[in-house]
Amino acid sequence: MFCYRHVQAFKPYNNSMHTLLFMESKENFQLLPEFSAGKGSDNFTFPFVFKACGGLLAIEEGKKIHAKMIKGGFDSDVYVGNSLIAMYVKCGRIEFARQVFDKMPERTLMVWNNIISGYARNGCANEALVLFHRMVQLPDLKIDLITITSLLPACTDLTDLRGGKCIHGYVIRNGFDLDVLLGTAFIDMYAKCGNIEISQALFNRMFEKDVVAWNALISGYSQNGYANQALIMFSEMRVSEVEPTSSTMVSVLPACAHLAALQLGKCLHNYIIRKGFEMDITLVTAVIDMYAKCGNLQLARELFDRMCKRNLILWNAMICGYGMHGHGEDALVLFSQLQQTGLKPDNITFVGVLTACSHGGLIDKGQYLFDEMTRVYHITPMAEHYACIVDLLGRAGCLDKAHDFIEKMPVEPGAGVWGALLGACRVHCNIELGKKVAEHLFHLEPQNAGRYVLMSNIFATAGKWNDVAKLRILMKARKVKKPPGCSSIEIGNRTHSFIVGDKRHPESERIYRTLDVLVEQMKEAGYVPDVNFVLHEVEEEVKEQMLFSHSEKLAIAFGIISTFHGTPIRITKNLRVCGDCHNAAKFISKIVSREIIVRDTKRFHHFKNGFCSCGDYW
Ligand code: ZN
Ligand code: ZN
Repeated sequence: MFCYRHVQAFKPYNNSMHTLLFMESKENFQLLPEFSAGKGSDNFTFPFVFKACGGLLAIEEGKKIHAKMIKGGFDSDVYVGNSLIAMYVKCGRIEFARQVFDKMPERTLMVWNNIISGYARNGCANEALVLFHRMVQLPDLKIDLITITSLLPACTDLTDLRGGKCIHGYVIRNGFDLDVLLGTAFIDMYAKCGNIEISQALFNRMFEKDVVAWNALISGYSQNGYANQALIMFSEMRVSEVEPTSSTMVSVLPACAHLAALQLGKCLHNYIIRKGFEMDITLVTAVIDMYAKCGNLQLARELFDRMCKRNLILWNAMICGYGMHGHGEDALVLFSQLQQTGLKPDNITFVGVLTACSHGGLIDKGQYLFDEMTRVYHITPMAEHYACIVDLLGRAGCLDKAHDFIEKMPVEPGAGVWGALLGACRVHCNIELGKKVAEHLFHLEPQNAGRYVLMSNIFATAGKWNDVAKLRILMKARKVKKPPGCSSIEIGNRTHSFIVGDKRHPESERIYRTLDVLVEQMKEAGYVPDVNFVLHEVEEEVKEQMLFSHSEKLAIAFGIISTFHGTPIRITKNLRVCGDCHNAAKFISKIVSREIIVRDTKRFHHFKNGFCSCGDYW
């Protein structure tokens, strides 16, 4: 927060100087008595005073001075009016800014730009675009670069690709030079609207590429889920000798998190330290989030503990980290520490802490927190919060209660909420409720293969092969494509990916030989292959063979032969981990005395000494 200790206004015509004294907070806000008395208040002083009010977010004081300004008859002055608009925009009161704008007798370009960027910055993208269209039609107003660059974030907020393309067209038609500033604004807009190909094309055509342009492109790839591409652009950036900034690192770290590429993430962290980047809260949060998502909570926590200044985003990153790993108790301890700091938890904090309760099986505590969230913190629950509660009740086997909870929700239950209940139906083999829930899901998400697979798992477990077949026909009729399950493991600097029955890997022979030995040892230890997870009517023996070549098992076997004894094995799967592989991983963790950490689409599973952190509920 910046402060105006002194705001100086010069009166050039008589060469005297009025000094208006402001303190650093609005509580201490003071005007010199002579200003309050009406002396020295003219069209030169008002812009400074309004600027100071904006800087201090001193809206009430600003309003008083606004009244004074009208009384003094300065409301027709375009500079005074403009500074007033800027003040209201800064204070987030765009509606007052608009009133001033509408009453102004004369509007130059600067005033238009001010109000448009005000709308864009205050999340009123539509109004910004409407004003732009009005502005375009004014014959004696020439739109400039400032108008365009302040308007583009509005399209980004709306993810309004059409609006953005419109402005792009305007820029081309009117011969604007697509310099690095404007080019970057377009790269950012197209990326945020999900059109990263155009961003890349614009980037390629840019003559001069500065670090901001690189950052926009890298974060575009990262945010659109093209993690590999983000990492490739990052190394290209370094080759082209543009020095990365802290923002670059904040954009590239989520790419590692997405790929669960822990080694690479560590390299980036080392790079940050080596380059001497300032470890500010944003950067540290990105590093913590990366470590948590790559499955290394310990490193995340060390960094968290080292920070002496913590904001809510940092707390949330750590609490959510515990949540996704199912470390319920740790998340709760952190949550109560957060409450003691006086910071107010927000809806994301509660997603984290409720997830921790649901993944950690803390049923009563979870329900208590849900209640506290609404009653004490007045946070309106979102779909994620509801899904956590359904998950909790489901875990406890209270399926009817969970169903009842959904029926009584004040908002339309989404697929996430129904999905949580279907998961519970699978664990507790409740076919009747499962069928009802699946109907909702097939209606809400007709193309989501995972839902069909879950329901057919329920049928298969109960031996209802006819129903399994019917589901398969339904999927075919609706052209639902099941994405192939794929498990990845990072060894050295490379990520190795496997699909079911994969024989493409150079070490394939050794992988299958290792698996054969493991299966024998597992069977001796009491493992029974659960052939229900193979949804084909084939011979039992063939079913077993298919099970043993599941992608998770291939990746685990490869991990065992490629790392030193005792090293944890980290796997990432693009779908939910399958039930048989989950069971197998428990046995393997004990046989080879290794921790196996699997990140699937729902959560982290930490397999250790024959048990999984999820308590077999996921
Ligand atoms: Zn499997
Ligand atoms: Zn598990």
